[in-house]
Order: sequence, then structure tokens, then C-alpha cells
Amino acid sequence: MKTVSSLLDDHWYERYKKISKLNFRSSIYDVTNRCNLRCKGCFFFSSGEHEAAAEENDIEKWHAFVEKEMERGVNLAILIGGEPTLCLDRIEAFYKRMPTFCATNGLIKVPRDRFPDMMVGLSLWGTPEDEATLRGKDTFKISSANYAGDPHTYYLYTITPKQLGKTEEIIRKIKDVGLKVHMQLLSNDEGVDGFSWKPEELIAIRDEMDAMLDAYPETVISCKYYHEIITTGQMLGRPFGWLECPSVTIAKDNREPQPKRLINFIRWSSDLQTMHRCCTSETRDCSTCKDGAAHMSWVMVNKRAHMRSTKDFQNWIEVYEMFAKLYQFIPW
Ligand code: SF4
Ligand code: SF4
Repeated sequence: MKTVSSLLDDHWYERYKKISKLNFRSSIYDVTNRCNLRCKGCFFFSSGEHEAAAEENDIEKWHAFVEKEMERGVNLAILIGGEPTLCLDRIEAFYKRMPTFCATNGLIKVPRDRFPDMMVGLSLWGTPEDEATLRGKDTFKISSANYAGDPHTYYLYTITPKQLGKTEEIIRKIKDVGLKVHMQLLSNDEGVDGFSWKPEELIAIRDEMDAMLDAYPETVISCKYYHEIITTGQMLGRPFGWLECPSVTIAKDNREPQPKRLINFIRWSSDLQTMHRCCTSETRDCSTCKDGAAHMSWVMVNKRAHMRSTKDFQNWIEVYEMFAKLYQFIPW
């Protein structure tokens, strides 16, 4: 086994040192089963996860629950839904205690006097026309007005096959409102016509994502290795899928042999008792899963495998840095 210092020059070693002490222990929480949108292809609704359990309405129980999560070692809370901003008091139960990330459609503005530095990820599914098709609304118009220039906010841009050739239009709009963007790919869970990836489209979108990173390095939070992994579904010659996925809830993980995985990861339902299978859709076929965070984590938990060459290890560092930036553990 090669050592870190034998693989890296001074510059890369400094970068490695900055991330090597970070020790993420994340879990994901459904804050509510409700949403003020109903997007076609939303994994939460399409897989029936919104009906898996009744919401816990007693706010004291949320506070006690977060305390127990901290005892379990969780140090990064990722809040999803439904739409978390419908329940600000539940968000606060997390935010008061640990680094918290809130994924939202941005229709409601998180009050910054109450949550001054909470990281917010705004979902965006493309051009106004594509958003109207998939989400019934041009959310960018509203979310950009709510969050323009906010230093703790970025767009989580879900790229669909319809976005080919249009990503620059979107990235420029985001740059112009003073926000950052991270790209991920749609998993077409509801089989919406025209929104499933063809192999040649994945090759083309990878080139486009690379070009966006080159052209807008101050706006796009990404790295080319991530683009490779997410578009090919391959890492070091291994295919992504159920046998490799790191983002599986610990109590539901009966895989043998056990792959490298996020330590003690759980995705909790909003009753604070029920657990979902993984960070995304309960019913999704893992062989078609394009989830960005699961792919990122896949790289991150496989550090040793990337220590076979300098380039591979630099790729690993870049993905780790990207994750750390997205969750505000290191500056943009
Ligand atoms: S805004 Fe998010 S949670 Fe709501 S329906 Fe759309 S994808 Fe699902
Ligand atoms: S659907 Fe995706 S995130 Fe969930 S277990 Fe399968 S590969 Fe992992």
C-alpha cells in the first residue's frame, strides 16, 4: 500500500490535510410528509415514502430525538421532506444543535434572523419550460428572488436529458443572482416520457458538465471525477448499485459481504421511528440510480482503493473537498 505522502506533492498534501480531520457522520431526516409542490419524478412521493409513517407533531419529541441522534454520533443533519420549510420549528430542533443542511424548493424563504448560517440547497430542475412540465411551476423565479446573494445557499440543479445544450443558460442565471450551483442527474423514477437517460446522452452531458466547470469555476461546485462517476456509474472499474451503495440505512443493510459504507447512516421518516431503506427512493431500481450524494459518498468511503496512484488519490481528494464545501465544512 502506498502512503499519502508518497503520492502527493506539497500542494496536494496541504489540501489533503484540510479535509483529513473532517469526520462526517451524516444522517437524513424527512422533516414532513407534505410539500407545496408535486414534481413528476419526486422520489419521495413516487415511492410512497410520504405514506410510510404519520408525522410527529409534538415539537418536544423532535428536540429529544435530535439529542439522541447526537448521542449516536451524528454530526451532520441533512433535512429533506416533503418540504422542510413548512415546519421551521422542526428545522430549528436540528439547527440549534449541529451543522444542518436544508434541501428546499425555495418557494418559502428561510428566515435568516432565525437560521443565520444554515446551509440551504435549492432544488432546480431546468429551464422555466421544463420546470413547468415537471413541477408545474417556474420555481427559479421565486427561489432566486428569495435567496439572491445569500452566502449560505446554492442551487441543486437536477439535470435531465432535456437540459442537454441548455445548462449554460441555467448556470449563467445562477451566477447572475450571486449563488453557487451543484449539478446532479435525474433518476426518472416515474418514467416521465422523454426524461430517461440514453447512453449517448450521458456521454454528452458529461462533456457539458466539464465545460461548465471550466467556464464557471467560481459558480459551479464540482469536479470532473464526480462527473465521470455519476455519468458512467463506474468507479475504478466497479459498477454502482445495491452491492456497492454506501448510503443504506444501517438497520436495513443485510448485504453480505458488507461494502464500504457511511458509518451508522440512517434515513428517518417524519414519525422519528420508521426508517427508509436509503438516502433516496425506497422502490428505485438501484441499477438506474443516479443519486448525486450516494455517488459522492461512494467515492469518499473508498479512500484506500484510490491510493493506487497519484491521479486516483487526487480525484478522491477533489470529491471529498466538494462534499465538504457543499455542507460548509470548508469554504467554497
Ligand atoms: S419540491 Fe421536492 S419534495 Fe416537493 S415534490 Fe418536488 S422534489 Fe418532491
Ligand atoms: S436506490 Fe440508489 S441510493 Fe438507494 S440503495 Fe439503491 S443505489 Fe443506493
